[in-house]
Amino acid sequence: MFQPGDHILCTDDLYGGSVRAFERAEMKRGLKFSYVDTSDRELTEKEIRDNTKALYIETPSNPTMKVTDLSKMKELADRYRLLLIVDNTFLTPYFQNPIAHGADIVIHSGTKFLGGHNDTLAGFLSTSREELVPEIRYFYKTIGSSLSPFDSFLVLRGIKTLSVRLEKQQKNAHGIARWLKEQKKVEKVYYVGLSDHPGYDVNLSQSRGFGSMVSFCTDTAETARNVLERIKLITYAESLGGVESLLTYPMLQTHEDVPLEIRDKLGITDRFLRLSVGIENVEDLIADLDQALS
Ligand SMILES: *Cc1c(COP(=O)(O)O)cnc(C)c1O
Repeated sequence: MFQPGDHILCTDDLYGGSVRAFERAEMKRGLKFSYVDTSDRELTEKEIRDNTKALYIETPSNPTMKVTDLSKMKELADRYRLLLIVDNTFLTPYFQNPIAHGADIVIHSGTKFLGGHNDTLAGFLSTSREELVPEIRYFYKTIGSSLSPFDSFLVLRGIKTLSVRLEKQQKNAHGIARWLKEQKKVEKVYYVGLSDHPGYDVNLSQSRGFGSMVSFCTDTAETARNVLERIKLITYAESLGGVESLLTYPMLQTHEDVPLEIRDKLGITDRFLRLSVGIENVEDLIADLDQALS
């Protein structure tokens, strides 16, 4: 959809794999990318260039849970004739519908909440723009990125329980976020469902929930490493959104390829952990974190 020389302006706190795809693969084809804090509309507008063709947004962002106002991005997209692309993996269609807020293209990883069981890889792309459909279909058919029947089955089966999983995961995440805030060795908790989160109101205005992703910063790097080593019920692994709780060390895993200066600016340090909360008993999850932190 884009030509060499086109520029895409992205949220500065994107899923690391997106940054990897942009910087390692798409850049070779002549596309230009830059990253800005899209929760700040003025700052975002300043970064729009003559050759900017699209805004690429994640809200809440990964892993620092910044919230971008979709209606403000829609305004910018209209004014500068940009495509508005939203990665809606974190909240899923159950909690947030970016097309209703003006997005042209919405991306979901099916690997995460939609599949929901950490057992398949899939991805989805939705568009409100009928004229883009033939082009998109043509490309995925040509490059072969279509789903096999079995993966399709797993995702369809997963989606049947999306609502119950997400309600439970969100409730667990809320409980864990509140508990983490009280812990001496935890310095900062990033969860959109906490009313003191800077994006709390904007997120409420454009979604029906907060999701189940909780990031937190420990007092020292040693504490973070201890937690990763000591957790028993929670698994130290990448990925997110499934029924099992997974704890990630973004600096070494998901966000390893994000340039250091961006990571530092965002606070993705050696003390930063990201938890994808599953459907286990919340008291068991808290007990696991408690023993790992002590
Ligand atoms: C995992 C993830 C992706 C990529 O999904 P895959 O299915 O693993 O390719 C994209 N965006 C976000 C926000 C993700 O968490």
